[in-house]
Amino acid sequence: MHAGRSLALGLGWLQRNLLVELSCALFACLLWRGDVAAGRWPGLLLAGWLAALLLHRLWLLQGRLSPRRVGAPGASAEHRQVGLLLTASLYLLIALTGGLASPVYPALYLVLAAAGGLEERPWNTLVVVGAALALEALLGAPAWPAGWAQTASHAAAIAGFPFVSRLLVAAARQLVRREEAAKLAKERAEHEQAAREFRLSGAASRDGTRALRDEERAGQRQLSSLRRLEEGIHNLLDVVFEALRPHSVAFYRLSTDDRSVRLMDARSDSDQLVRTPMPAGEGVLGAIIKRLSPVSFDHLRDGHELLTYYATRVPIRSFLGVPVLDGAHVRGVLLADRRVDVPFSDDDRRMLSTVAVELLHEIDTERVLADMDKLLSESACFYEASKQLNRALGLQEVIDEVLSAARLVLPGVDFAALVLREGDKLVLAGAQGLDEYAGWREKHLQQELHGQSHLVAQVLKEGSVLPEAPFHQREGEQRLVFGRQMPLPPLASLKIFPLRVAGEQGRKSQSGKEPIIGALVAAGQRPGLFPANRDKSRDLVGVLQTIANMAAISIQNAQRYQQLERLATTDGLTGLHNHRRFQELAEELASTSLRYQRPLSMLLTDIDHFKKVNDTYGHPVGDQVLKRVARVLGDLARATDRVCRYGGEEFAVLLPETDAEGARMLAERIREEIKQQEHQAADGKPFRVTLSLGICTMPEHARHKQELIDRADQALYHAKRNGRDKAVHYAELGSAKSQGA
Ligand code: GH3
Ligand code: MG
Ligand code: MG
Repeated sequence: MHAGRSLALGLGWLQRNLLVELSCALFACLLWRGDVAAGRWPGLLLAGWLAALLLHRLWLLQGRLSPRRVGAPGASAEHRQVGLLLTASLYLLIALTGGLASPVYPALYLVLAAAGGLEERPWNTLVVVGAALALEALLGAPAWPAGWAQTASHAAAIAGFPFVSRLLVAAARQLVRREEAAKLAKERAEHEQAAREFRLSGAASRDGTRALRDEERAGQRQLSSLRRLEEGIHNLLDVVFEALRPHSVAFYRLSTDDRSVRLMDARSDSDQLVRTPMPAGEGVLGAIIKRLSPVSFDHLRDGHELLTYYATRVPIRSFLGVPVLDGAHVRGVLLADRRVDVPFSDDDRRMLSTVAVELLHEIDTERVLADMDKLLSESACFYEASKQLNRALGLQEVIDEVLSAARLVLPGVDFAALVLREGDKLVLAGAQGLDEYAGWREKHLQQELHGQSHLVAQVLKEGSVLPEAPFHQREGEQRLVFGRQMPLPPLASLKIFPLRVAGEQGRKSQSGKEPIIGALVAAGQRPGLFPANRDKSRDLVGVLQTIANMAAISIQNAQRYQQLERLATTDGLTGLHNHRRFQELAEELASTSLRYQRPLSMLLTDIDHFKKVNDTYGHPVGDQVLKRVARVLGDLARATDRVCRYGGEEFAVLLPETDAEGARMLAERIREEIKQQEHQAADGKPFRVTLSLGICTMPEHARHKQELIDRADQALYHAKRNGRDKAVHYAELGSAKSQGA
């Protein structure tokens, strides 16, 4: 039993490993003895035997019995054996059909060319060439030494043909691969160019070279992380190619909106792989993406219509594709296929799945690195933005800085706007970007937002970032952002952030939330700026929300500062500019007047016998009179005139672009009007007051601010001295004085 099995195993081994070689050797002996050429029975018997062996080996090679053995040592032996058998059979035919002059002889070169060009292992080629040389020598030997030259030339051809054909095939393969590589390199260059152009065009619309430099740096960072990723993927595909010996191995990546797949990288003996984006639902790739599991096809006859990743129909026999999965989310498809009918084994499948996991690591590492780069650049931008924000004191300055910061941090933001609460109203306080819509900004800036149903009102009410879902560019939604009266220019991405500040001394408002003083609107013309439910979007939203928080504090500070400043420069009783502000205004207007030699007049007024008013009717009534006088001055002055409370019951009016004549006319009208005004005492008794006015005009009658004030005061004094209820210009003083003299 045991011996029988050993014998069977031994015979099996002999059959597989030495039978062909022994048969060929036997054939050589018969050839040597001349049995073949003479057509004797041992030669004919051997011819039959060789033919049978050849058929058997071809049958094996065709792959129906041992398909898995391609690429294994056994498969290599089969190749060699077929080569040997073909060579031996041809020599047999040649010997039977007239020796070296046989018409069959040229077929030998075909076999040798195939052995050189198609056989991957050089050893197999050498064995076949060696056998051919030996048989050639045996066949030619009877004619030696005369036929020696013919044998030598045949031997040279036998050795040369496989070599040349091997070179040609290698060159052709190299050519295909080089074209493939060139194509990929070109695509990569285009991609880089596109990335650079996108980045730079984003920057060009903004002002300042600093922004441009930042953009360039961001573009370079993006490119280097892209290269890192491409190298990693390329190495992985190399590994798959060497291990599985496929026709193609390729990684198609799913776009971020899940709509299309695009070739990231491939190794292929074909140049027919589709490189442009393909719809994600189509073909075998679509099936893998939908099923989230591997798909394989074996024993295909002539490719398959589902293999849509080839531009033309390639006769693929086996296919294996696995999804590249990130949790439940598919990021792409890794595939391998063969043109030989060798199905992918379970081991192959495991290997491809492992590589798919590695691919994901690769993508994630790249993303983490890119995110880190981004974070670093963002914090630099952020630092810059916050520095500028803190520096800005004026409200308008702060608003401009907030809007610039939003656009600096996120280059895709083409439009940024600020809405602020002013009492019960919501006002568009600032807008930046979209230069082509400058008209929109001019029309709506400082305008009130109407209604309560728009998104901005909702953000202020709820204090949350809206809209939650990606924004749609529909007509209706554009109108919803600022309300019907302020339809937004067409924008594809949009988020609105509440401007939240801590309540006074940390107190919260009645609703329990911190008060929201306004909203920051960030929008872009590019869709998908704030993709739904992705970490990336959360980061961006987080960064912009931080800017909004910072903006809220800066705006509140600016508003407080503005309020303080107003308090510091206005008079509490009358609401007019106070004395401090009067001095500043006089300084500014006087220097303008001097620089351009334009007239500037000043009125200084004093209520006549005002002490008596206070004494008679009481101080509060006196205050009412002061307020009334202030209102009359304000009403009669032009918009460009500055009315100030000079002190006590004295007022000053600065009149730019007004000469002595004009100032005198206005002074008279004021004097008349004050005289007409009827005031009421506490007991209802009416009374009136009169006003004295001094006037001076520069540069005609004064060389500088102080002279203007002093001389107006002198004119006022003159009016008082000459009966009150008078308006006197300093110019009259000289003549009055000389008259008096
Ligand atoms: P004259 O015609 O010479 O100007 O006489 P007059 O009484 O107006 O004298 P003067 O201008 O020197 O008086 C200023 C008075 O104005 C003194 C003060 O009681 C009064 N006064 C100053 N500021 C206020 C104020 O804010 N409210 C009230 N009710 N009275 C004020
Ligand atoms: Mg006075
Ligand atoms: Mg007075």
